[in-house]
Amino acid sequence: MKITILGSGTFVPFAKRTCSSHLLEDNKNKIMFDFGSGTINYLTKLGIKLYGLNHIFISHMHADHSSDLSHFILFILDAPDKNKLKEKYFIYGPEGINRDIENMLKAFHLDDHKNLNRLKIIELNKEIKIGSFRISPFLVSHDIIALAYRIEYFQKALCYSGDSSYCEGLKEACMNTDLAIIEATFPKHCNLRNHLSGEELGKLAQETKIKKLIVTHVADTYLPQVKKDIKKNYKGKIIIAKDLMRFKI
Ligand SMILES: [Zn+2]
Ligand SMILES: [Zn+2]
Repeated sequence: MKITILGSGTFVPFAKRTCSSHLLEDNKNKIMFDFGSGTINYLTKLGIKLYGLNHIFISHMHADHSSDLSHFILFILDAPDKNKLKEKYFIYGPEGINRDIENMLKAFHLDDHKNLNRLKIIELNKEIKIGSFRISPFLVSHDIIALAYRIEYFQKALCYSGDSSYCEGLKEACMNTDLAIIEATFPKHCNLRNHLSGEELGKLAQETKIKKLIVTHVADTYLPQVKKDIKKNYKGKIIIAKDLMRFKI
């Protein structure tokens, strides 16, 4: 499997790092994890057609993880070439995502669109299989309801978490993974309970034996320091995510 980090930034605009967004693929399936602003621009630049993206997993509904969904939904509902459409477009997320997408549809005047049956919104609470991928949701701790996803593909395991503090759900999702893409947004002294500091991420990565740690969603002011903070507690391989980085597992 191959994973491309489209957006490695936070909610604070920063020219080199756009909002959270990831593309996971093998030769049969393309699956998205988060869909923050800037996603569609990057997908288009990479030549990836929106028609082919019929499985989108959202970690939580903060705009830096979900705001390009409204554009994506408009495109699918009004698709200029119906022949290219997949049968259904699935959007998965935590409990409440059904209501959130309904509200999004209302806000964008799409709630009575004739093609709404193309969409299926799923509040995910158990493992789902898409081709050779097995994807499991884990409830994590953030200021709104949020999920981390563990992805298993043959013998390999990967974790993607959007925003989360140090918690049991995140530890379970990360346990013995070959690669994990996790946030470290602010330094410890900011004392934010809804995100991880570098030290906390290092502790979690060491405890869960992550083989390769991809650090994402780092505030730009924290970038020069974050790796040092993680290293205080973690002995494995650390890579600071950049937009359009690609990993093969
Ligand atoms: Zn958030
Ligand atoms: Zn965020």
